[in-house]
Amino acid sequence: MLGTRGVVLRAGGRQFTRVLSGLNPSEGSPDQCCGLMVATRSLSSEAPPQGPRVPPASGATMPDPEASYPALEKLGLIAAEHVRIKDLAKVEELVNTIIGGGFSRLQVIVDYDMTLCRYHVNGKQAVSSFGIMDNSPDMPEYYREEANRLLAKYYPIEVDPKMTEEEKIPYMVEWYQQIHDLLVKCSIRQASIEGMVSASSARLRDGSEELCQKLHRAGVPVLVLSAGMGDVLEQVLRHFKVYTDNVKVVSNFFNYNEQGIMVGFKGNLIHMFNKNEDAIHSSDYFEKLQNRTNVILMGDSLGDIKMALGVPQPSSVLKIGFLNDKIDERLPAFMDNFDIVLLDDQTMDVANSIVDLLK
Ligand SMILES: [Mg+2]
Repeated sequence: MLGTRGVVLRAGGRQFTRVLSGLNPSEGSPDQCCGLMVATRSLSSEAPPQGPRVPPASGATMPDPEASYPALEKLGLIAAEHVRIKDLAKVEELVNTIIGGGFSRLQVIVDYDMTLCRYHVNGKQAVSSFGIMDNSPDMPEYYREEANRLLAKYYPIEVDPKMTEEEKIPYMVEWYQQIHDLLVKCSIRQASIEGMVSASSARLRDGSEELCQKLHRAGVPVLVLSAGMGDVLEQVLRHFKVYTDNVKVVSNFFNYNEQGIMVGFKGNLIHMFNKNEDAIHSSDYFEKLQNRTNVILMGDSLGDIKMALGVPQPSSVLKIGFLNDKIDERLPAFMDNFDIVLLDDQTMDVANSIVDLLK
């Protein structure tokens, strides 16, 4: 669908639709597995030659020859070519705490766009929650044109490594507000969302269904916290049968009138940098889970590390960052902020391998 509709550029929980040429033809095949497959799933076998470049594994991830990290070794995280860990001792301890605490002490907090869903599929940029609408024939052409214009203006700001978060926020709010106003003009029918999703090429990161099934069986709460479009991503979760009763979605949801036409948004805007100020953080969600002090957090943006700020302390939060784009420029900041950084990894193998060790 993306290919037939040409270039659609959105970002900020949105998407770029651009061809990543040269992907391995097997990329995207259902070969995901768990456990020690992490070590054998080399990025270089799957990454597009002209796509994200993976810097050589050296420097901060080189293990101290005097130290041992048995948990990380067992998970294959030391050897894996596409894994970067700044503080091996800290991550070894975090992983051991999470494994030792078992399912009863665990909760999971995950971003949606480009985290729970893939960043690229078969050589093309994958669709985000925004992208599903961008590419839907149900949306008017003027929406795509204006959304692209806004993207060209604001996306460079979002990913500018030289700007601080504080400097970026006013622009991001401006961008979201304009997109939201534009969406309202489109008179989106509530009944059309399901069709938009099922006709889209939306794909969860490989192994997501398996991970969600394990967490559901074990009764582990999963918070999906997204600055994207809640109505759309909820439908994606339903489509892939992972919207189970242990999953809570916090996002930007549409308000509909009596005719089922979208007329605005509910609550306060969630954007990529205020994920600690949303409705869930002012609710008793984390208080109710206060015995679940072990957290696996996953995101693809530095703003995502804020998602767990409401977890009662002390807690052990293992932050896994998916670095999908502009790898060289963003790697230092990702390594400073995420415990484990995964370079162009389109799978949930690392999370699955950790969860497999829990009882
Ligand atoms: Mg994201």
